[in-house]
Amino acid sequence: MDQSISYIINELGEERSMYYNAVAPPIIQTSNFAFNKISDLSAVFEDEYSAYLYSRGLNPTVDILRKKLAALDGAEDCLVLNSGASAIYNSVMANVKTGDHIISVNNPYSWAKHLFNHILPRFGVNTTYIDGTRIENFEETIQPNTTIIYLESPNGWSGEVQDLAAIATLAKKKGIVTICDNSFSTPLYQQPVKLGIDISIQSATKYIGGHSDVVAGVLSGTKEMIKKIFESEMLCTGNVISPQNAWLLIRGLRTLPMRLERVEKTAQSVRTYLESHSLIEKVIYPFSIENPQHLLAKKQMKGVGGLFSFVLNVNSDEEIVIFCESLRHILIAVSWGGHESLVMPSCASLPKGSFDKNNLQHKMVRMYVGLEEDSYLIADISQALDKITAARTK
Ligand SMILES: *Cc1c(COP(=O)(O)O)cnc(C)c1O
Repeated sequence: MDQSISYIINELGEERSMYYNAVAPPIIQTSNFAFNKISDLSAVFEDEYSAYLYSRGLNPTVDILRKKLAALDGAEDCLVLNSGASAIYNSVMANVKTGDHIISVNNPYSWAKHLFNHILPRFGVNTTYIDGTRIENFEETIQPNTTIIYLESPNGWSGEVQDLAAIATLAKKKGIVTICDNSFSTPLYQQPVKLGIDISIQSATKYIGGHSDVVAGVLSGTKEMIKKIFESEMLCTGNVISPQNAWLLIRGLRTLPMRLERVEKTAQSVRTYLESHSLIEKVIYPFSIENPQHLLAKKQMKGVGGLFSFVLNVNSDEEIVIFCESLRHILIAVSWGGHESLVMPSCASLPKGSFDKNNLQHKMVRMYVGLEEDSYLIADISQALDKITAARTK
């Protein structure tokens, strides 16, 4: 079957003859599906993964999206949930029991960390965090009761990557389930399942939606794994995506390749500008030649997209505040992957008075470059950096 990206995005899963040859698929906005025969109803009770019963399980609009996202991931199947956080929650919960041990990379997404630190310990599941840049660290940390290795490659803030193929090989030997948060790259730039990872997760809120108007998440893997999560954790937590939001994600997918291509290019111009500015100490992204892991990053990723971090050469957090608040077009906000450029200073989450100007992490600003012109963004950054200089000479 034709599995080119264009085919997947424009045609796969769409049966237009069933809905008047409409080019855009219908939003099947129904909670319920009716049956003519009790025997058919009984069959679906037996196996809800096989047919439409109730939209907390399967829904035809969501299924169009599932086929496309699974194919893009190179996976047998996927589930689309109502947030990236619920994709993390469902995939982890489905693969642990009391007494199990999890290995996670340092500083995963905040709500993954919350699950590991605050929810799972109540059920006797403990997590060890490691520096994921060295394969030896995984080998040394595996215990007989380790059931999950949790990865985020690249990391949303530090750009650190893990050797996905090597970790997958190690985990398979020990019967450990590997989960990788792939939000940074999307399946267009990295396919963890094809590298041997068991479950690939994404926050579809970011690039897939692409317009800052939907919160959603994806998890993909083998049919067996997806069915297991569907029948237990997903139906029980009930955190499936709505048909309306699934439709918005299908619409987002139509333009995903060109949006990614655009932000890839614009972000590179912005980074080149930043790298030459005296108020910027360092620009951090996986393909940077200063990154000791850049060859590994280039081996497993096709691009880096619009997200990166930079370290401001400042003396105080007030100067970081001056920079961020002086931006006229670039917004101060969480999230990313939409049409609009954003900044997020790490000092916003520091306890008051704890800023240390010798700590690079405290001076870090995460930036997302959206779909604007590069000159428009560079002019905005330039005038905001000038405000730091102006404040110093006052
Ligand atoms: C945003 C994000 C998530 C969580 O996704 P939501 O859709 O906001 O729940 C998980 N991982 C990463 C890397 C993210 O950036």
